[in-house]
Amino acid sequence: MKRLFRGGRVIDPANGIDGFFDVLVDGERIGAVGRDLPVDGAEVVELARDQVLCPGLIDIHVHLREPGQEHKETVATGLASAVAGGFTAVACMPNTTPVNDNANVTAYILGKAAAASLARVYPIGAVSRGSKGELLADIAELHSAGCVAITDDGHPTATALLLRRALEYAGMFGMPVIEHCEDSSLKGDGVAHEGFTAATLGLRGMPGACEAMGVERGVLMAELTGGAFHVAHMSARASIRAVRKAKEAGIRVTCEVAPHHFTLTDESLRSPIPYDTNTKMNPPLRESADRDAMLDGIADGTVDVIATDHAPHHYDEKNVEFDRAPFGIVGLETAVPLAVTRLVDAGRITLPRMIELMSTNPARLLKLPGGTLSVGAPADLTILAPEMPVRIDARRLRSRSKNTPFDGWELRGGVVATMVNGRTVYVNDDAALRINQPG
Ligand SMILES: [Zn+2]
Repeated sequence: MKRLFRGGRVIDPANGIDGFFDVLVDGERIGAVGRDLPVDGAEVVELARDQVLCPGLIDIHVHLREPGQEHKETVATGLASAVAGGFTAVACMPNTTPVNDNANVTAYILGKAAAASLARVYPIGAVSRGSKGELLADIAELHSAGCVAITDDGHPTATALLLRRALEYAGMFGMPVIEHCEDSSLKGDGVAHEGFTAATLGLRGMPGACEAMGVERGVLMAELTGGAFHVAHMSARASIRAVRKAKEAGIRVTCEVAPHHFTLTDESLRSPIPYDTNTKMNPPLRESADRDAMLDGIADGTVDVIATDHAPHHYDEKNVEFDRAPFGIVGLETAVPLAVTRLVDAGRITLPRMIELMSTNPARLLKLPGGTLSVGAPADLTILAPEMPVRIDARRLRSRSKNTPFDGWELRGGVVATMVNGRTVYVNDDAALRINQPG
């Protein structure tokens, strides 16, 4: 079955493409990209001039919660959320119950993903057994089971020695080590960014230095081992300074920033809803100088990837005192409108750069097959409507959990449709998409 997309703007940073082209999907693959491609019995999809066809978006930091915490999310609900957010692939974190530290858990997740048949799933394995920070997990086993990286996310890798061994071992399989950068002694029992806001609200703080120390440690271990070190959910200005310096020195370090960290500051802990537990995440929302440093890093190329750190929690778990609430928010369905509005519309980056951050670079980082419209690549596609008004409605999220601080926000940048392996897995009822039958 062939399908021809025409009329829309095609952006493929991997091939330097940005313009009005036709894209032919031949079965499960990209068949051709060019002008005035022959219809030749293909089903024709007429895109509007203001719609954008790009390689499917890839989120490398997602908590799918299954196995073990299915009241928050399942693989199936998480993937429904992913495709509605424009993502054709996600990499999922190993802090499930049990932890994904062996081939059985990896296979279980991949089985659930195959059954859901929505976005692709690339599991990330644990650095240490049970993510307890004592013994290294069997990384060869995780790699052959299908894991694409390792991390003890939720916590930092327990010691510098363990991180060193993880970088050496993962490096043998070409996998990066993804680090939740944090100095635990400095974090203590902090629940918010240390600063004026936390002080006035009477919340225990953790300073940006707490994250940056984890970044600096990882950079040193990457330099020592030659391994690939990736900084998860970066939030502090000292962290981005450390990454920038390390990159200049030729050390193999990459980093990601989550939409909430380039959008919000710790002011959100105070208003509009004081002590809103949907503003509690780790790393925390920081002050404006930190948020602005993330925006600068995204614009100047220091930041490699936008990743959501999608962290679903049940309403009852979040509906407690700020101190007692778990860290994290859902992010899959709000990432595109936040990136379009806060980065592209705000004039900080171009739309091709946004797609590079959300598709091209994530694929390169984890050596995934997508992230490109090259002929022969898998037909994983996202159609965006950058000018479409979007109102975030928490109740309408596909995710099983609704913990977002963006409920009611008016933004721009909609997802029109999502295709995985040539198959349409999501169509937005609110967006116009014209499909003509083969003729
Ligand atoms: Zn984390």
